[in-house]
Amino acid sequence: MWKIIVLIGAPGAGKGTQARLLQEHLNLPQISTGDMLRARAQEKDVLAEEIKAVQSSGKLASDDLVMRVVEERTTMEDSANGYVLDGFPRTMAQAEMLEKLATEQGLEIVAIVVDVPFELLEKRATGRLSCPVCGEIYHTQSKPPKDDKKCDLHPYTELVQRVDDTAEKVKIRLDTYNEQTKPLIDYYGSTGRLHRIDGTRDREAIHKEIEGIIRSNGFVTGHQGSLQHA
Ligand SMILES: [Zn+2]
Repeated sequence: MWKIIVLIGAPGAGKGTQARLLQEHLNLPQISTGDMLRARAQEKDVLAEEIKAVQSSGKLASDDLVMRVVEERTTMEDSANGYVLDGFPRTMAQAEMLEKLATEQGLEIVAIVVDVPFELLEKRATGRLSCPVCGEIYHTQSKPPKDDKKCDLHPYTELVQRVDDTAEKVKIRLDTYNEQTKPLIDYYGSTGRLHRIDGTRDREAIHKEIEGIIRSNGFVTGHQGSLQHA
């Protein structure tokens, strides 16, 4: 059965990286609603005008508007054998709309949560430093600059922490995430379609596990034939 992979993960959990790996290795298009809305707004038609109006008002796009963009994107040929949703659904209303779409498309939904404990997410975010000149990102633990708090390429420039990466801001961000995703996690869990994976390991190990979940229940490959029947 071809699948729609709903990737769920807190900011900093590495969800985007995993979506990219799935696109590279399994030929499943990565469909990020944020990127898609921005790109779609550049076109010249009624839908683009609607998106632009919402964006300039500063409001969140309505469930219906997001759904129309998702529907349009996932009916393209490259999505026929399944796709990865990143940042969608965000609400229960969107999850219900996705059920209908999946039925129409003859695809099965699998939700995968990339689990990373709060303390680690906090550490990842608050250790981040960037160079105000070139934008290079460092991390006090995983990628420290050669010279304490200076950019390797701009040794006279003091590295700075983004205003969003203070412990306080990180906590707000993660609380919002938990509140928003809890109903979705409960919903996919209660319908037996939720998989939780340990997101503290390296990206390759995480990818292997996600691939295993997708390949189970007979995930078959695209017409490119780069993969064997599981
Ligand atoms: Zn620099």
